[in-house]
Amino acid sequence: MAAELKQIFIFLAIIFLIIFIAPAVLAQNSIFFNGENITAQIHTINQNGELLIKARDLAELLNTKLSWQPALKSLEMKSEGVNIKLMAASTYIQIGNNAIKTKSGLQLVDNQAYVPLAKTIEAFGYLLEYQQDNQELYIYQPETTIRDVSWQEDGNQLRIKMNEITPYRVLHSEDGRTITIEIDKARIDKEFSDNVSNNNYYLKVVNVPNRALLRLIIKSKNPIPFQLDGGVYETDDALILSFLPQLKRIYFNANNELNIQATGEIGDPEIEYLNDGQEMLVDIPSVVTGNYQLDLQDNPLVKSVKVIQKSLDPVVLRVKVQFSKGEVFQPLNNVNSNILSFRPGQRAQITNLDYHSGQLSFYASSALKPELFLLTKPPRLVINLFNTERGSGVRDQLKINDSKLKRVRTARFDDQTVRLVADLASLTNYELTEHKESGLFKYTISFKNQFKSITSQANQNYQYLNIDLTGKTDYEIKKFNYPHRLVIDFKNTYNNLDQLKLPEYYAPLVKDIRSSNYMLEGEEVTRLVFELSNYYSHKIESPPGSSQIKIALARKYFNESEKIEPQIKDHLIVVDAGHGGFDPGAIGRNGLNEKSCNLAIALKVRNILKAKGHNVLLTRSKDNFLSLQKRVKFANKINAEIFVSIHANSFTNPSSGGVETHYNNANPASRLFAEKIHDKLGRSLGINDRGIKESNFYVIKYTKMPSVLVEVAFLSNPREEKLLGSSKFQQKAASLIVDGILDYLEEKEGR
Ligand SMILES: [Zn+2]
Repeated sequence: MAAELKQIFIFLAIIFLIIFIAPAVLAQNSIFFNGENITAQIHTINQNGELLIKARDLAELLNTKLSWQPALKSLEMKSEGVNIKLMAASTYIQIGNNAIKTKSGLQLVDNQAYVPLAKTIEAFGYLLEYQQDNQELYIYQPETTIRDVSWQEDGNQLRIKMNEITPYRVLHSEDGRTITIEIDKARIDKEFSDNVSNNNYYLKVVNVPNRALLRLIIKSKNPIPFQLDGGVYETDDALILSFLPQLKRIYFNANNELNIQATGEIGDPEIEYLNDGQEMLVDIPSVVTGNYQLDLQDNPLVKSVKVIQKSLDPVVLRVKVQFSKGEVFQPLNNVNSNILSFRPGQRAQITNLDYHSGQLSFYASSALKPELFLLTKPPRLVINLFNTERGSGVRDQLKINDSKLKRVRTARFDDQTVRLVADLASLTNYELTEHKESGLFKYTISFKNQFKSITSQANQNYQYLNIDLTGKTDYEIKKFNYPHRLVIDFKNTYNNLDQLKLPEYYAPLVKDIRSSNYMLEGEEVTRLVFELSNYYSHKIESPPGSSQIKIALARKYFNESEKIEPQIKDHLIVVDAGHGGFDPGAIGRNGLNEKSCNLAIALKVRNILKAKGHNVLLTRSKDNFLSLQKRVKFANKINAEIFVSIHANSFTNPSSGGVETHYNNANPASRLFAEKIHDKLGRSLGINDRGIKESNFYVIKYTKMPSVLVEVAFLSNPREEKLLGSSKFQQKAASLIVDGILDYLEEKEGR
């Protein structure tokens, strides 16, 4: 095999020489040997379009033994197992046991033997590279030898074993069916195409004669599951190409379990049941179709199995199983990480269907994947329970007639599906929860109120807050001071505030509105917080248990006898998240918007300061646009004590990075404030410290209080973009900013 291959190379080299070098070589060439220009040191002639070199020069160059037998007019060259013979008047070169035809063969000129340069040199295992545009011929000693190419890890890796890793390129064809590995200055040791070629793959090795490189071309009838990113790595003596696992086999085992096996580890699949459980879709990430075996042995439970490559970016394999009527297959926990197993499931029993205070519940004897969907006319919620049957405590109809539900009907939808239909008073949100209770699975569907609108109107004396809900709700109003806020806790209410259009300003009395959810005595509570700019008296003007809540805030007291303590001077800190709304600010290479990381950090600064009992206001707490003028006006109007604006930097050069703190001399105290903040950020944020800078940013120039603008990191730097998007880094930046703020306030107070 080896000899044959060598012959092929030499043959290719001949063709190449005839086509490319021959005419060019007639002109004046520069010849380089291992990078050194040797044109002046050697003697060459052109004959029949072939470049010949003086045999003695060549022997010296290649450090070979040369012997000349005058009687036979034959020349012999020997080096490391290669033996070459040429005879005058013959156009053949004898290389070992093979004879190769050349154009000129051995020529005698002025009593000196000349031999064909290219063929002789290649016979000794050297590589030629001819650069046609500048007519330079390069001779290289191969820098590496490829010893073996073979599959590893059950066909998930291709190992190219070589003496040394020389520069290489891996190219993936557009249709994904060809991978070309180009290895510079490499030669091969033996034939190894057969090691690699199999049902799926075909390997071809091409010596690219005019470019001193080897090409390993792998072709497949299917797209090759290779991802350039992370798909190639090097060891000391090998280049490894990693492939994604392929589907290997789909079969039933002895326990009548359906198994999907891949050549490598299978990640978490997504499993979906369609057509009332008669069809199962298993979407498996990062696995590709291969030459798999389908081994169903006419199992009566399965009608058909289809495999498709659902997508290549990301790579998802879909196995579609159609069941014969009656049985559903349920996933088992993986024992072998290369296999997904499914067991024919028994029907689960549904028991004890019950409803009270907005919650519909039932039990199942095994875990279900209920399918829920809303229908609008009339409003109803449909709950499909696949592979189940009705047990005790499940009547055909459950009459309810409260503010949310009229009734619940149940029926066997088909021979394997129980269907529940909840007739709703009006379309509403719901939430499905599952928990285990004494060996059974309890499913609870909570029907919730939600917010219809929150509006506010003000007159000279009062500001009214109107909260409109979809149903009557339990709520509790509390008021807290320093910071001044009005807090309303709603029970059984879905927090849909981010879907509502809220006014940007609740001025004059309300500064901000936010919401959160927390658990109170095992029940989830939605909390609405109105941040007030000062202490205001309040009065609830709606009757209790209403779905419309109306609250009046007053600058003067509603109850004249009500006394409040004198106002304590407190630090009021304004944190400004740069950009917002249609203004994204800088955009990272991977798409992160400055506006959102600014906001995330600003919110974290606020939360830390609040947790420490400080009075903080944000210029924006949502993704909305706010002009620079408005930001400044806001801080000046409420007489903030200090102002921090948060931004992220950007530059054309992606390697630029680090943290900067900016101040403006309009307020002489800003410099100290910047120093205090940057002292923390520059030292401890873990990225380049770019120092403090005096700048003319609008928000730090026109705010009356000490103010700084922090450029936390560079969005244009991919590493820092990743950091800016991480909650951990945001939290770190926020807490360092807070440390700086507190340092500044402390020092200022100490004076
Ligand atoms: Zn910015």
